[in-house]
Amino acid sequence: MQFDIIPNPAALSDEARAAHMVDPGFGRVFTDHMVTIRWTAAGGWHEAQVRARAPFQLDPASAVLHYAQEIFEGLKAYRAEDGGVTMFRPEQNARRFNESAQRMAMPELPEDVFVQACEELIRIDEKWVPGGEGSLYIRPFMFANEVFLGVKPAAEFIFCVIACPVGAYFKGGAKPISIWVSDHYNRAGPGGTGAAKCGGNYAASLVAQAEASGHGCDQVVFLDSSEHKWVEELGGMNLFFLFADGSAVTPPLGGTILPGITRNSILQLLNADGVTVKERPYSIDEWRADAQSGTLTEVFACGTAAVLAAVGQVKSTAGDFTIGNGGTGFRTEALRTRLTAIQRGQAPGPEGWVHRVNL
Ligand SMILES: *Cc1c(COP(=O)(O)O)cnc(C)c1O
Repeated sequence: MQFDIIPNPAALSDEARAAHMVDPGFGRVFTDHMVTIRWTAAGGWHEAQVRARAPFQLDPASAVLHYAQEIFEGLKAYRAEDGGVTMFRPEQNARRFNESAQRMAMPELPEDVFVQACEELIRIDEKWVPGGEGSLYIRPFMFANEVFLGVKPAAEFIFCVIACPVGAYFKGGAKPISIWVSDHYNRAGPGGTGAAKCGGNYAASLVAQAEASGHGCDQVVFLDSSEHKWVEELGGMNLFFLFADGSAVTPPLGGTILPGITRNSILQLLNADGVTVKERPYSIDEWRADAQSGTLTEVFACGTAAVLAAVGQVKSTAGDFTIGNGGTGFRTEALRTRLTAIQRGQAPGPEGWVHRVNL
């Protein structure tokens, strides 16, 4: 696709950018540009632009503000040791974006255009890609901007990509997280949108996340909505359980769990190592019993932002329990080290995982 490139005349100076990149945190500091592509039912995808990051003008009747037709993705770009820039498995994000689009009755964007849009933004904002432990977090998203209050799939959408430099997710080393078992809020149900990466899922999870914080926990874990028995995932991360006999379990994808690319990558790495990973339902009762008996030695959550985070403590209305000694286990640590080295191009990984950006 042909993009019109309109450089930001007010792009930050090298000094101002450097100051912003010292301690960017997560999601508060943004690069100078954004990519936008419009879609209309009559004209398809058109008006692809790379331009100054700026607010959208939205009519108060824009469909997204009322019926939440919105999806997003999240991926990272890294500074390679030779000064180049790479992305990790972006075509997987492109594919998942379209699966989300199908579920939400939104138009699909050709996968190569999705990847190209990310590349265009990285190219113009290349200086914003941190070195060292940092990375550039890329956030592609799409929303309905048709001005109409009737309930139907919208006939106009905007696809946009923005980016923010991020430091190491865990400063001063990774601390294990504590999680709260949500006993009356659900994230997803059969036939619902649990497998789509849509803003609405997050909106629905926030009250449970707030409840978790109220119990002194970092994150909330959701159970299945039918039996309230099977462990699904956190608000934005998938879970793995590692056992003393060397085996591993992760809940199966079945429409109520988001198919994480980190989850998929870890499955492939463990399988290549000959570790038996069962994708099978795992109940909260098994989890508690296995933790207490010591059969279960490590649990970690995984996703693009945090990569891998050990789960140390689980709290619920039925009582609390600890995994192992409550710290980060050595297999979790080793997997994190290995995956981040592959993502950064410092260690060889499976064919095609590292996508070099043509700067
Ligand atoms: C994005 C997301 C994940 C993690 O997916 P990755 O592709 O690994 O970043 C897990 N669960 C939910 C609900 C998510 O939205």
